[in-house]
Amino acid sequence: MSVKINENYLLLQNSYLFIEIARRIDEFQKNNPEVDIIRMGIGDVTKPLTPAVLNAFKKAVVEMGDEKTFMGYGPEQGYPFLIETIIKNDFEPLGVNLELDEVFISDGSKCDTGNIQEIFDLNNKIAVTDPVYPVYVDTNVMAGRTGHIKDNGMYEGLVYLPCIQENDFVPELPKEKVDIIYLCFPNNPTGTTLNKEQLAKFVEYAKENESIILFDAAYEKFITEDDVPHSIYEIDGAKEVAIEFRSFSKTAGFTGTRCAYTIVPKELKAVDSYGNLQSVNELWNRRQTTKFNGVSYPVQKAAEATFTEEGKKEIMDNIEYYMNNSKIIRESLANIGLSVYGGVNSPYIWVKTPNDMDSWDFFDLLLNEANVVGTPGAGFGSSGEGYLRLTAFNSLENTKKAMKRISELSF
Ligand code: PLP
Repeated sequence: MSVKINENYLLLQNSYLFIEIARRIDEFQKNNPEVDIIRMGIGDVTKPLTPAVLNAFKKAVVEMGDEKTFMGYGPEQGYPFLIETIIKNDFEPLGVNLELDEVFISDGSKCDTGNIQEIFDLNNKIAVTDPVYPVYVDTNVMAGRTGHIKDNGMYEGLVYLPCIQENDFVPELPKEKVDIIYLCFPNNPTGTTLNKEQLAKFVEYAKENESIILFDAAYEKFITEDDVPHSIYEIDGAKEVAIEFRSFSKTAGFTGTRCAYTIVPKELKAVDSYGNLQSVNELWNRRQTTKFNGVSYPVQKAAEATFTEEGKKEIMDNIEYYMNNSKIIRESLANIGLSVYGGVNSPYIWVKTPNDMDSWDFFDLLLNEANVVGTPGAGFGSSGEGYLRLTAFNSLENTKKAMKRISELSF
Protein backbone atom coordinates (compact mmCIF):
# COMPACT_ATOMS: atom_id res chain seq x y z
CA MET A 1 0.00 0.00 0.00
CA SER A 2 1.40 3.36 -0.94
CA VAL A 3 -1.54 5.60 -0.18
CA LYS A 4 -0.71 7.86 2.71
CA ILE A 5 -3.28 9.02 5.17
CA ASN A 6 -3.82 12.52 6.49
CA GLU A 7 -1.61 12.11 9.55
CA ASN A 8 -3.42 14.86 11.37
CA TYR A 9 -6.17 12.34 12.01
CA LEU A 10 -3.72 10.41 14.19
CA LEU A 11 -3.43 13.45 16.42
CA LEU A 12 -7.10 13.28 17.34
CA GLN A 13 -7.84 12.29 20.87
CA ASN A 14 -9.91 9.12 20.82
CA SER A 15 -13.49 10.14 21.05
CA TYR A 16 -14.05 7.78 23.89
CA LEU A 17 -16.53 9.88 25.85
CA PHE A 18 -19.87 8.57 24.58
CA ILE A 19 -18.41 5.11 23.88
CA GLU A 20 -17.16 4.86 27.45
CA ILE A 21 -20.49 6.11 28.79
CA ALA A 22 -22.32 3.45 26.73
CA ARG A 23 -19.90 0.77 27.94
CA ARG A 24 -20.47 1.63 31.60
CA ILE A 25 -24.26 1.74 31.11
CA ASP A 26 -24.20 -1.66 29.33
CA GLU A 27 -22.15 -3.23 32.06
CA PHE A 28 -24.42 -1.83 34.78
CA GLN A 29 -27.57 -2.92 32.93
CA LYS A 30 -26.18 -6.43 32.42
CA ASN A 31 -25.61 -6.79 36.15
CA ASN A 32 -28.91 -5.09 37.02
CA PRO A 33 -31.38 -6.02 34.27
CA GLU A 34 -34.43 -4.97 36.27
CA VAL A 35 -33.29 -1.39 36.85
CA ASP A 36 -34.72 1.38 34.69
CA ILE A 37 -31.96 3.84 33.89
CA ILE A 38 -32.85 7.48 33.20
CA ARG A 39 -30.62 9.04 30.56
CA MET A 40 -29.94 12.69 31.09
CA GLY A 41 -26.61 12.77 29.33
CA ILE A 42 -27.25 13.02 25.65
CA GLY A 43 -28.11 16.33 24.05
CA ASP A 44 -30.86 15.07 21.77
CA VAL A 45 -34.41 16.34 21.94
CA THR A 46 -37.34 14.05 22.79
CA LYS A 47 -40.36 16.05 21.58
CA PRO A 48 -41.42 15.30 17.99
CA LEU A 49 -41.89 17.83 15.18
CA THR A 50 -44.86 20.07 15.97
CA PRO A 51 -48.13 19.94 13.95
CA ALA A 52 -47.49 23.15 11.96
CA VAL A 53 -44.05 21.92 10.97
CA LEU A 54 -45.26 18.45 10.16
CA ASN A 55 -48.09 19.75 7.95
CA ALA A 56 -45.73 21.93 5.92
CA PHE A 57 -43.26 19.05 5.68
CA LYS A 58 -45.93 16.60 4.43
CA LYS A 59 -47.36 19.11 1.95
CA ALA A 60 -43.92 19.70 0.47
CA VAL A 61 -43.29 15.95 0.21
CA VAL A 62 -46.53 15.60 -1.76
CA GLU A 63 -45.38 18.45 -4.06
CA MET A 64 -42.23 16.46 -4.76
CA GLY A 65 -44.37 13.63 -6.13
CA ASP A 66 -46.24 15.77 -8.63
CA GLU A 67 -44.69 16.69 -11.97
CA LYS A 68 -46.13 20.22 -11.78
CA THR A 69 -44.66 21.04 -8.38
CA PHE A 70 -41.61 18.76 -8.25
CA MET A 71 -38.37 20.50 -7.23
CA GLY A 72 -34.94 19.34 -8.34
CA TYR A 73 -31.68 20.90 -7.20
CA GLY A 74 -32.33 24.07 -5.25
CA PRO A 75 -29.92 26.93 -4.65
CA GLU A 76 -26.89 25.66 -2.70
CA GLN A 77 -27.34 28.60 -0.32
CA GLY A 78 -30.97 27.75 0.43
CA TYR A 79 -34.34 28.88 -0.95
CA PRO A 80 -35.06 32.62 -0.72
CA PHE A 81 -38.43 31.88 0.94
CA LEU A 82 -36.62 30.47 3.97
CA ILE A 83 -33.83 33.03 4.02
CA GLU A 84 -36.30 35.93 3.88
CA THR A 85 -38.33 34.40 6.70
CA ILE A 86 -35.24 33.95 8.85
CA ILE A 87 -34.10 37.55 8.35
CA LYS A 88 -37.56 38.91 9.06
CA ASN A 89 -38.16 36.85 12.20
CA ASP A 90 -34.76 36.32 13.75
CA PHE A 91 -32.78 39.44 12.89
CA GLU A 92 -35.03 42.41 12.00
CA PRO A 93 -36.66 42.45 15.47
CA LEU A 94 -33.14 42.83 16.92
CA GLY A 95 -32.43 45.78 14.62
CA VAL A 96 -30.03 43.66 12.55
CA ASN A 97 -30.39 44.08 8.79
CA LEU A 98 -29.08 41.31 6.60
CA GLU A 99 -29.08 40.80 2.86
CA LEU A 100 -30.33 37.54 1.38
CA ASP A 101 -26.86 36.46 0.31
CA GLU A 102 -25.46 36.84 3.81
CA VAL A 103 -27.50 33.84 5.03
CA PHE A 104 -26.53 30.28 4.09
CA ILE A 105 -28.93 27.42 4.80
CA SER A 106 -27.29 24.09 5.59
CA ASP A 107 -28.00 20.65 6.97
CA GLY A 108 -26.53 21.38 10.38
CA SER A 109 -24.44 23.62 12.56
CA LYS A 110 -22.14 20.70 13.23
CA CYS A 111 -21.13 20.72 9.55
CA ASP A 112 -20.92 24.50 9.35
CA THR A 113 -18.91 25.01 12.53
CA GLY A 114 -16.72 22.12 11.41
CA ASN A 115 -16.30 23.21 7.79
CA ILE A 116 -15.82 26.94 8.26
CA GLN A 117 -12.16 26.59 9.31
CA GLU A 118 -11.12 25.34 5.87
CA ILE A 119 -11.49 28.80 4.31
CA PHE A 120 -8.82 30.10 6.71
CA ASP A 121 -5.05 29.59 6.55
CA LEU A 122 -3.40 26.84 8.60
CA ASN A 123 -1.16 29.31 10.41
CA ASN A 124 -4.01 31.13 12.09
CA LYS A 125 -3.88 30.97 15.86
CA ILE A 126 -7.09 29.49 17.25
CA ALA A 127 -8.71 30.07 20.65
CA VAL A 128 -11.46 27.92 22.12
CA THR A 129 -13.30 28.10 25.40
CA ASP A 130 -12.64 25.20 27.77
CA PRO A 131 -14.79 23.07 28.24
CA VAL A 132 -15.86 23.10 24.62
CA TYR A 133 -18.17 21.56 22.00
CA PRO A 134 -15.57 19.10 20.61
CA VAL A 135 -16.26 19.80 16.91
CA TYR A 136 -14.34 23.10 16.98
CA VAL A 137 -11.20 21.44 18.30
CA ASP A 138 -11.31 18.22 16.29
CA THR A 139 -11.85 19.92 12.92
CA ASN A 140 -8.80 22.10 13.55
CA VAL A 141 -6.81 19.01 14.53
CA MET A 142 -7.83 17.30 11.28
CA ALA A 143 -6.77 20.37 9.32
CA GLY A 144 -3.33 20.40 10.96
CA ARG A 145 -3.66 23.60 12.95
CA THR A 146 -3.12 22.31 16.48
CA GLY A 147 0.00 20.18 16.74
CA HIS A 148 0.15 17.35 19.28
CA ILE A 149 -1.91 16.77 22.35
CA LYS A 150 -0.12 17.24 25.68
CA ASP A 151 -0.44 15.09 28.81
CA ASN A 152 -3.05 17.46 30.21
CA GLY A 153 -5.30 16.71 27.22
CA MET A 154 -4.67 20.11 25.60
CA TYR A 155 -3.27 20.66 22.10
CA GLU A 156 0.03 22.51 22.01
CA GLY A 157 -1.10 24.88 19.26
CA LEU A 158 -4.47 25.94 20.67
CA VAL A 159 -5.22 28.75 23.08
CA TYR A 160 -7.69 27.67 25.76
CA LEU A 161 -9.98 30.11 27.56
CA PRO A 162 -11.15 28.39 30.76
CA CYS A 163 -14.81 28.78 31.77
CA ILE A 164 -14.95 27.68 35.38
CA GLN A 165 -16.72 28.40 38.65
CA GLU A 166 -13.91 30.80 39.64
CA ASN A 167 -14.56 33.15 36.70
CA ASP A 168 -18.32 32.66 36.69
CA PHE A 169 -17.92 30.77 33.41
CA VAL A 170 -17.02 34.02 31.65
CA PRO A 171 -13.87 33.47 29.58
CA GLU A 172 -11.10 36.02 29.86
CA LEU A 173 -9.92 37.66 26.68
CA PRO A 174 -6.92 35.84 25.17
CA LYS A 175 -3.68 37.14 26.66
CA GLU A 176 -1.89 36.75 23.35
CA LYS A 177 -3.04 37.73 19.87
CA VAL A 178 -5.25 35.05 18.35
CA ASP A 179 -6.78 35.09 14.88
CA ILE A 180 -9.92 33.02 15.30
CA ILE A 181 -12.02 32.65 18.45
CA TYR A 182 -14.80 30.10 18.79
CA LEU A 183 -17.54 31.25 21.15
CA CYS A 184 -20.71 29.31 21.90
CA PHE A 185 -23.34 31.14 23.96
CA PRO A 186 -25.62 29.97 25.48
CA ASN A 187 -22.91 27.42 26.03
CA ASN A 188 -22.78 23.71 25.52
CA PRO A 189 -21.78 22.12 27.89
CA THR A 190 -21.85 24.66 30.77
CA GLY A 191 -25.32 26.05 29.98
CA THR A 192 -24.07 29.50 31.01
CA THR A 193 -24.01 32.59 28.85
CA LEU A 194 -22.56 36.07 28.38
CA ASN A 195 -24.41 39.33 28.77
CA LYS A 196 -24.12 42.07 26.15
CA GLU A 197 -21.28 43.86 27.88
CA GLN A 198 -19.22 40.66 28.21
CA LEU A 199 -19.77 39.72 24.57
CA ALA A 200 -18.99 43.29 23.47
CA LYS A 201 -15.51 42.88 25.02
CA PHE A 202 -14.83 39.99 22.64
CA VAL A 203 -16.05 42.03 19.67
CA GLU A 204 -13.76 44.87 20.76
CA TYR A 205 -10.84 42.44 21.13
CA ALA A 206 -11.53 41.06 17.65
CA LYS A 207 -11.54 44.55 16.15
CA GLU A 208 -8.33 45.58 17.90
CA ASN A 209 -6.56 42.35 16.97
CA GLU A 210 -8.10 41.91 13.52
CA SER A 211 -9.48 38.54 14.57
CA ILE A 212 -12.65 36.71 13.58
CA ILE A 213 -15.19 35.35 16.08
CA LEU A 214 -17.06 32.18 15.16
CA PHE A 215 -20.22 32.55 17.23
CA ASP A 216 -22.32 29.43 17.75
CA ALA A 217 -25.85 30.43 18.76
CA ALA A 218 -27.44 26.98 18.46
CA TYR A 219 -29.26 27.51 21.79
CA GLU A 220 -30.37 31.10 21.21
CA LYS A 221 -34.10 30.30 21.44
CA PHE A 222 -33.62 29.00 24.99
CA ILE A 223 -32.60 32.44 26.28
CA THR A 224 -34.98 33.72 28.97
CA GLU A 225 -33.07 36.68 30.42
CA ASP A 226 -33.27 40.17 28.92
CA ASP A 227 -29.63 41.19 28.98
CA VAL A 228 -28.45 38.09 27.11
CA PRO A 229 -27.81 38.79 23.41
CA HIS A 230 -29.63 36.54 20.95
CA SER A 231 -27.21 37.41 18.18
CA ILE A 232 -23.63 38.67 18.21
CA TYR A 233 -24.77 41.27 15.67
CA GLU A 234 -26.64 43.04 18.46
CA ILE A 235 -23.16 44.33 19.37
CA ASP A 236 -22.13 47.37 17.32
CA GLY A 237 -19.57 46.57 14.67
CA ALA A 238 -19.83 42.79 15.07
CA LYS A 239 -20.61 42.31 11.40
CA GLU A 240 -17.01 43.24 10.62
CA VAL A 241 -15.63 40.51 12.88
CA ALA A 242 -18.11 37.67 13.33
CA ILE A 243 -19.79 34.71 11.68
CA GLU A 244 -22.90 33.37 13.44
CA PHE A 245 -24.23 29.81 13.39
CA ARG A 246 -27.82 28.89 14.19
CA SER A 247 -29.73 25.63 14.01
CA PHE A 248 -33.30 24.34 13.99
CA SER A 249 -32.09 21.18 15.79
CA LYS A 250 -32.77 22.00 19.41
CA THR A 251 -35.11 24.92 18.71
CA ALA A 252 -37.65 22.97 16.70
CA GLY A 253 -36.78 19.30 17.14
CA PHE A 254 -34.84 19.08 13.86
CA THR A 255 -32.00 16.89 15.14
CA GLY A 256 -33.16 14.12 12.80
CA THR A 257 -34.63 16.40 10.12
CA ARG A 258 -31.47 18.53 9.66
CA CYS A 259 -31.56 22.24 8.94
CA ALA A 260 -29.40 25.12 10.12
CA TYR A 261 -28.17 28.51 8.92
CA THR A 262 -24.99 30.49 9.01
CA ILE A 263 -24.64 34.25 8.71
CA VAL A 264 -21.55 35.53 6.93
CA PRO A 265 -21.78 39.33 6.67
CA LYS A 266 -20.32 41.05 3.64
CA GLU A 267 -18.40 43.46 5.88
CA LEU A 268 -16.28 40.54 7.10
CA LYS A 269 -12.85 40.41 5.45
CA ALA A 270 -9.72 38.33 5.85
CA VAL A 271 -6.34 38.97 4.32
CA ASP A 272 -4.43 37.04 1.64
CA SER A 273 -0.67 36.56 1.51
CA TYR A 274 -0.27 39.76 -0.55
CA GLY A 275 -2.03 41.75 2.12
CA ASN A 276 -5.20 42.16 0.05
CA LEU A 277 -8.53 42.00 1.84
CA GLN A 278 -10.77 39.17 0.67
CA SER A 279 -14.49 38.75 1.29
CA VAL A 280 -15.16 35.89 3.71
CA ASN A 281 -18.74 35.78 2.41
CA GLU A 282 -17.50 35.12 -1.12
CA LEU A 283 -15.10 32.42 0.08
CA TRP A 284 -17.83 30.64 2.05
CA ASN A 285 -20.18 30.92 -0.91
CA ARG A 286 -17.48 29.38 -3.13
CA ARG A 287 -16.90 26.60 -0.62
CA GLN A 288 -20.60 25.80 -0.26
CA THR A 289 -21.40 25.92 -3.97
CA THR A 290 -18.50 23.54 -4.63
CA LYS A 291 -18.99 21.06 -1.83
CA PHE A 292 -22.67 21.28 -0.87
CA ASN A 293 -25.86 20.85 -2.87
CA GLY A 294 -28.40 22.36 -0.56
CA VAL A 295 -30.99 21.15 1.93
CA SER A 296 -34.02 19.29 0.58
CA TYR A 297 -37.08 21.35 -0.36
CA PRO A 298 -39.46 19.64 2.14
CA VAL A 299 -37.01 20.22 5.00
CA GLN A 300 -36.70 23.91 4.12
CA LYS A 301 -40.51 24.15 3.95
CA ALA A 302 -40.72 22.49 7.36
CA ALA A 303 -38.14 24.97 8.69
CA GLU A 304 -40.10 27.89 7.24
CA ALA A 305 -43.19 26.69 9.14
CA THR A 306 -41.38 27.15 12.45
CA PHE A 307 -41.82 30.91 11.87
CA THR A 308 -45.60 30.88 11.29
CA GLU A 309 -47.74 32.08 14.19
CA GLU A 310 -48.77 28.51 15.09
CA GLY A 311 -45.27 27.20 14.47
CA LYS A 312 -43.69 29.77 16.79
CA LYS A 313 -46.21 29.05 19.51
CA GLU A 314 -45.80 25.28 19.30
CA ILE A 315 -42.04 25.54 19.34
CA MET A 316 -42.00 27.90 22.29
CA ASP A 317 -44.34 25.51 24.15
CA ASN A 318 -41.79 22.72 23.67
CA ILE A 319 -38.90 24.96 24.72
CA GLU A 320 -40.84 26.00 27.83
CA TYR A 321 -41.47 22.33 28.59
CA TYR A 322 -37.72 21.64 28.47
CA MET A 323 -36.94 24.79 30.46
CA ASN A 324 -39.38 23.70 33.14
CA ASN A 325 -37.40 20.45 33.39
CA SER A 326 -34.30 22.55 33.62
CA LYS A 327 -35.73 24.53 36.54
CA ILE A 328 -36.69 21.31 38.33
CA ILE A 329 -33.16 19.97 37.90
CA ARG A 330 -31.51 23.17 39.11
CA GLU A 331 -33.77 23.54 42.13
CA SER A 332 -33.66 19.89 43.17
CA LEU A 333 -29.88 19.74 43.04
CA ALA A 334 -29.44 23.09 44.77
CA ASN A 335 -31.77 21.87 47.51
CA ILE A 336 -29.42 19.01 48.34
CA GLY A 337 -26.48 21.38 48.49
CA LEU A 338 -24.94 20.86 45.07
CA SER A 339 -23.57 23.82 43.13
CA VAL A 340 -25.40 24.07 39.82
CA TYR A 341 -24.79 26.41 36.90
CA GLY A 342 -26.49 27.12 33.59
CA GLY A 343 -29.98 25.91 32.82
CA VAL A 344 -31.51 29.41 32.90
CA ASN A 345 -30.87 30.34 29.28
CA SER A 346 -30.10 26.87 27.97
CA PRO A 347 -31.21 23.24 28.33
CA TYR A 348 -27.89 22.24 29.94
CA ILE A 349 -27.21 22.13 33.65
CA TRP A 350 -23.59 22.03 34.75
CA VAL A 351 -23.19 20.42 38.15
CA LYS A 352 -20.09 20.78 40.33
CA THR A 353 -19.20 17.36 41.67
CA PRO A 354 -19.51 17.07 45.46
CA ASN A 355 -16.48 16.57 47.72
CA ASP A 356 -14.01 17.27 44.89
CA MET A 357 -14.95 14.00 43.25
CA ASP A 358 -13.70 13.68 39.69
CA SER A 359 -16.19 13.74 36.82
CA TRP A 360 -16.13 9.99 36.17
CA ASP A 361 -16.47 9.05 39.86
CA PHE A 362 -19.55 11.25 40.10
CA PHE A 363 -20.86 9.74 36.87
CA ASP A 364 -20.43 6.22 38.37
CA LEU A 365 -22.05 7.23 41.62
CA LEU A 366 -25.14 8.61 39.85
CA LEU A 367 -25.34 5.56 37.58
CA ASN A 368 -24.89 2.98 40.33
CA GLU A 369 -26.81 4.63 43.16
CA ALA A 370 -29.50 6.68 41.39
CA ASN A 371 -29.55 4.93 38.00
CA VAL A 372 -29.26 8.32 36.31
CA VAL A 373 -26.84 9.01 33.47
CA GLY A 374 -25.10 12.35 33.03
CA THR A 375 -22.09 13.33 30.93
CA PRO A 376 -18.74 13.66 32.73
CA GLY A 377 -17.51 17.22 32.28
CA ALA A 378 -13.92 16.07 31.73
CA GLY A 379 -15.04 14.74 28.35
CA PHE A 380 -15.42 18.34 27.13
CA GLY A 381 -11.94 19.48 28.04
CA SER A 382 -9.66 19.72 31.03
CA SER A 383 -11.55 22.64 32.59
CA GLY A 384 -14.62 20.38 32.60
CA GLU A 385 -12.99 18.10 35.18
CA GLY A 386 -14.93 18.23 38.43
CA TYR A 387 -18.27 18.85 36.70
CA LEU A 388 -21.05 16.79 35.15
CA ARG A 389 -23.58 17.84 32.50
CA LEU A 390 -27.27 17.05 32.76
CA THR A 391 -29.74 17.91 30.03
CA ALA A 392 -33.36 19.04 30.24
CA PHE A 393 -34.42 17.10 27.15
CA ASN A 394 -36.01 14.16 28.97
CA SER A 395 -39.73 13.89 29.79
CA LEU A 396 -41.07 15.78 32.81
CA GLU A 397 -41.92 12.46 34.45
CA ASN A 398 -38.40 11.08 34.03
CA THR A 399 -36.84 14.36 35.08
CA LYS A 400 -38.83 14.37 38.31
CA LYS A 401 -38.08 10.70 38.92
CA ALA A 402 -34.35 11.25 38.34
CA MET A 403 -34.28 14.23 40.72
CA LYS A 404 -36.10 12.28 43.41
CA ARG A 405 -33.57 9.46 43.12
CA ILE A 406 -30.59 11.83 43.28
CA SER A 407 -32.13 13.73 46.21
CA GLU A 408 -32.26 10.48 48.21
CA LEU A 409 -28.50 10.04 47.96
CA SER A 410 -26.18 11.37 50.58
CA PHE A 411 -22.89 12.84 49.44
N1 PLP B 1 -23.39 23.56 18.11
C1 PLP B 1 -23.54 23.17 19.38
C2 PLP B 1 -22.97 23.98 20.46
C3 PLP B 1 -24.22 21.99 19.68
O1 PLP B 1 -24.36 21.60 20.95
C4 PLP B 1 -24.74 21.21 18.64
C5 PLP B 1 -25.44 19.94 18.88
O2 PLP B 1 -25.43 19.35 19.90
C6 PLP B 1 -24.54 21.65 17.34
C7 PLP B 1 -23.87 22.83 17.10
C8 PLP B 1 -24.99 20.81 16.18
O3 PLP B 1 -26.17 21.18 15.69
P1 PLP B 1 -26.78 20.53 14.38
O4 PLP B 1 -27.74 19.49 14.82
O5 PLP B 1 -27.42 21.71 13.70
O6 PLP B 1 -25.68 19.96 13.55
